[in-house]
This record gives sequence, structure tokens and C-alpha cells, in this order.
Amino acid sequence: MSGESVLVTGGAGYIGSHTVRLLCEEGYHVIVLDNLVYGHVGAIVDDSAELVVGDVGDRELLTRLFTEHNFTGVIHFAAYAYVGESVTNPLKYYRNNTAEPLTLLEVMSDFGCKSFVFSSTCATYGEPEKLPLTEDHSQKPVSPYGKSKLMVEWILDDCDVAWDLKSVALRYFNASGCSTDGLIGEDHSPETHLIPLVLQAVKGEIPEITVFGTDYPTDDGTCIRDYIHVEDLATAHLAALRHLAGGGDSLRCNLGTGVGISVKQIIDIAEEVTGQKVPVKYGDRRPGDPGHLVADPGNAKKLLDWEASRKDPRSMIETAWKWMSQPHGGHFPG
Ligand code: UDP
Repeated sequence: MSGESVLVTGGAGYIGSHTVRLLCEEGYHVIVLDNLVYGHVGAIVDDSAELVVGDVGDRELLTRLFTEHNFTGVIHFAAYAYVGESVTNPLKYYRNNTAEPLTLLEVMSDFGCKSFVFSSTCATYGEPEKLPLTEDHSQKPVSPYGKSKLMVEWILDDCDVAWDLKSVALRYFNASGCSTDGLIGEDHSPETHLIPLVLQAVKGEIPEITVFGTDYPTDDGTCIRDYIHVEDLATAHLAALRHLAGGGDSLRCNLGTGVGISVKQIIDIAEEVTGQKVPVKYGDRRPGDPGHLVADPGNAKKLLDWEASRKDPRSMIETAWKWMSQPHGGHFPG
């Protein structure tokens, strides 16, 4: 395969870069559009991928790219993803995550490009009424971040009706881990995610990990999440692209393992993997954190023939540790 050209926005970010690497290995000609606000040039490791530095809302640039390349599809990762920041600065999120993609969609419409894979999120569900979460669960997001993503899902539904845009919205659960060979990984600044923070605490880069809440109605009182390996997320994007290239209909799919793991369990596994004690502090709940989120990944299996190849969180923590214990300490140069 494949020789097809694909535009990947946000391809220098965490999930984007793992997907770009896979697409290149599969023979796609990948054009990465990334403004490098959070992305890293060093995260694009396949020489065949072309990086274009710019914004998803830059019509002139997009028109040039669509004129130069005959894109069979677009994978849209580019977004801000700090839930807490979205509460204090909602307009930043609605501007970047909801408004900017309108320009991208308009240019796609102009050029007759009708395949769109979208990074959505389990944050579009809000507080779960029933577990595991299925795609038909009500979507009542509590944060502007979740709302900014849900609005794009609605826009995609409308574009399907209006001009036959076919889209796969992939609702990620907790993206985690790093590439198996340790070449690329998670490098956020600031970092807010549990697994890298636990490992930073092991390394002494932060004094301790604060466990947000110990009074949830779960077995050990800490929050339960569904951690999915970033390389599994990448294979799901490939499956979605192929689904659309094969004339498939629009879909909304959860991407998770279906396995729920608590914060305390993550800390215990991190101690086993690193052979070191994790310094822990117990704190209050983080506002907006549901106690229990687990995917029913059955739809993705049925409709995309995709399922997570790794369900054991140990592999997420092992690969994250491999990435972070290199001399660069889990940071791309620059
Ligand atoms: N968490 C925590 N301490 C931290 C960061 C996260 O206890 O410093 C918890 C958080 O409450 C949630 C889980 O770890 O239950 C995963 O949080 P993360 O921010 O990684 O992802 P989220 O589920 O918010 O998307």
C-alpha cells in the first residue's frame, strides 16, 4: 500500500506523531500541518513525511496544500486539550477546536475531499449514567473542552447531510504509553496526565504525585479510567482511513480497552515497572473528574475491525518509562 496522500493536522503532537509514523510505514504520503504550539519537529521521525508549519484556519495555506496534493483524506488531530484551561479560557478552546476546523472543512468541500477522521474524546459524554460507555450514551460534556469537540461532531453530521462528507469521530479514552522502540513519546508542557506525572515523581523531577480524590465510590476510592496505548490509537486511525477509502459510512467509535484501572493501581504498577517507590500525596478531587470512565469498545471492533492489542496497563507504563528514562528524559530536542 498505498501511495495515497493524506493531510494530518496536529501530526507533530503525541497521538498524531505515532499515527504519522504508522501511515508512513504503510506507504502513505503524509503531509503534516502543525503550528508547533504544542507539537515537536522531532516527533516526526519518518523522513517521507512532510511538515508544513501553519494553522488549520489558514485558508490560503490550505488552498495551496489541496492544490498541490490530491488528498484522499484528512486526519484532524490539531486541538488544545487541557481540560482545566478550557474552563478558565473557554474562548481559546471554542476558537481553536471548534471554529478553526470550519476553514479546513470549507476547503475540503471546495476540493471535493470527503473523508475526515476526527480526534474526539470520551469527555463528550460527561458524567456517565451507565457503564461501560457505549456510543449511544447521552453526550452532556461538562468542560468547554468536551463541548468544543462535541460541536465538531455535530458539524460533521451536518456536513454529511449537506455535501456527503464522511467522517469517523474517534472518541479516545486515556491515551497513554509511548512507541515500543522508545523513539517517540509523550512530551507535554505543562504535563497534566497521570502516567507521565507518576514517572516524573519516580525520577524526582516533581516532589510527588498528588492523587486527586480518595473518596470516590470505587473499590480503593480513587478514580477509574480506561488507559489505551498510543500505538493502538494509531492503528485505529489507519482503520478509520481505510474504512472511508473503501466507501464506508460515517461512524462514531469509542477507542478504549474496556478495562478499568484505578489511580492507585497505576501507582502500584509504576512501582513494579520502575523498581522504585512513587512518592505520593493524597489530595482533594479535581473538579470535573468523573469517578469512573470505561469504554465499551465493541463498536470499533464491529465496524472497523479494530481492537486494542494491549489491554494490560503495564505495557503503557513500561513504554512510557522506556521513553522517559533515556538521556533526553522524555523530551524532544528544542
Ligand atoms: N490524576 C491524579 N493526579 C494527577 C493527574 C491525574 O490523581 O496529578 C487522576 C485524575 O483524577 C484521573 C486520572 O488520574 O482520575 C487520569 O487523569 P488524566 O489527567 O491523566 O486524564 P483524564 O482522565 O483527566 O483525561
